Amino acid sequence: MSTGRIGFVGLGNMGMPMARRLAAAGYQVCGFDASARVMASLDGGDGLSAAGGLTAVAATGTVILMLPDSDVVERVLIDDGLLAGMRPGSMIIDMSSSDPARTRELAERAAALGITLIDAPVSGGVAGALEGSLTIMVGGPEQAFLAARPVLEQLGSRVVHAGGSGAGHAVKALNNLMSAAHLLASSEALIAGRRFGLDPAVMLEIINGSSGRSGSTELKWPRYVLTESYNAGFPVRLMVKDIKLALAIERATGTPSAVSEATVAAWSRALEDLPPDADHTAIARWLDSLDDSP
Ligand code: NAD
Repeated sequence: MSTGRIGFVGLGNMGMPMARRLAAAGYQVCGFDASARVMASLDGGDGLSAAGGLTAVAATGTVILMLPDSDVVERVLIDDGLLAGMRPGSMIIDMSSSDPARTRELAERAAALGITLIDAPVSGGVAGALEGSLTIMVGGPEQAFLAARPVLEQLGSRVVHAGGSGAGHAVKALNNLMSAAHLLASSEALIAGRRFGLDPAVMLEIINGSSGRSGSTELKWPRYVLTESYNAGFPVRLMVKDIKLALAIERATGTPSAVSEATVAAWSRALEDLPPDADHTAIARWLDSLDDSP
């Protein structure tokens, strides 16, 4: 069993199972969330206790953030005083899917105070968080990566050093752009097949042994679309945030981005039409509600 104290800010769909895994591995986890309902659910008996405030989180010396986006990360670190409350030598691990450019600025600001900030976003969804099988992509100095790795290995089965500060957040955004494009493309094809008279389950059986397969055909369509559960635990709004960040990277680097532009446009339209907290897999249902007949 590992020991040590960890502060954990952001106990939502992903953060809560991740914090619980760390507690189960022997860490004393001091959790904090803006939601009073979430805080009331922490009784401390299982190694995950409710922090009285960010001062207690800062005192742990190692703080993980699992927050919606860079706006909230900056609010917590700067406006709410978490960074200012931490001692030199402390470490912040931002596991949220944040904006790589803003992460670099925050890492420089932290370094000026003697505090290391690395980015370590994840892929694998709520199921991966529960199982500890996330893929974790780390941006920051090699030494900081090595220092954080024992903690990260409790959460993920693939922990990779992607490069310097912001590299993890950049890969994460670009990964989600590909994932969003795959789900859109496979949904268009599978809906067209069904309208043509094919059975989508039979199509998936064929495609998953063929060159058109992807995570969307192997996992998302069978588990969340065909069952009509649409409950993967990752909302459309967070997907749109990520793919806009990825498109900004493509534009900033002069990379051709016609498919990405179309992907962001379609997902943004879906976000407007769907209920505010709709799961990202509901994009298939949204597409199926449209009829582009001439
Ligand atoms: P979530 O909305 O379920 O959780 C975010 C939590 O942060 C909430 O509990 C909220 O109350 C808390 N919070 C918001 N503002 C706060 C503040 N100022 N101070 C303290 N707490 C605050 O989101 P999630 O699905 O857990 O995602 C977290 C991050 O992980 C996002 O960046 C997301 O893009 C990324 N991510 C999510 C998934 C997924 O499948 N859900 C997968 C990979 C990556």
